[in-house]
Amino acid sequence: MPAATGSGSRRRTQTDAGFVLDTRSLGRAPGSRREIQRTVVLPDKIGLDLVNIPAGAEVRLDLTLQAVSEGVLVTGTASGPIAGECSRCLEQFTDHLELELTELFAYPNSATEQTTEEDEIYRLVDDLIDLEPVVVDAAGLELPLQPLCEPDCAGLCPECGVRMAIAGSDHSHEILDPRWAGLANFAADSPASASGDAAAE
Ligand SMILES: [Zn+2]
Ligand SMILES: [Zn+2]
Repeated sequence: MPAATGSGSRRRTQTDAGFVLDTRSLGRAPGSRREIQRTVVLPDKIGLDLVNIPAGAEVRLDLTLQAVSEGVLVTGTASGPIAGECSRCLEQFTDHLELELTELFAYPNSATEQTTEEDEIYRLVDDLIDLEPVVVDAAGLELPLQPLCEPDCAGLCPECGVRMAIAGSDHSHEILDPRWAGLANFAADSPASASGDAAAE
């Protein structure tokens, strides 16, 4: 069942829901820790068209938030199903993806915040962590650029295009010797040119 966050809550509301984590209960005493387990139903797919965590999929967050002097350190995993199209045999496949996350969210006015750019180190905003870009980045690195249904997918037969997984390993075509192939073409052409009206060369 979807999380009971109320209907129409899919705006960037500043609440402790989805990929947004409220750190207030963690406090700022360095060493303070909090475990978070949560399932997020994806409003949009994460990844590329060829392979992604699909929209509507449940992503499981298993995280530890730890207060450190400069901010909040998030470690743990995000895991969920992926769906893709095999780049060799073009079949649809599904799999499971587990992403290891380690990310610091800097406190406002911390030294880290003042000495880094926003695109280098994430920031805490109103005591909230938005984990979505972290998960998107991690998925971008982890999802294969050339997804395969199986690591040893045999792909398609280069001659006829049948999936080798279906055709079997003894699938083959009689390849004519190129010299005989030339004769075969000649033989096939001959009746046509004999009966045609065009002048023979
Ligand atoms: Zn395949
Ligand atoms: Zn074939």
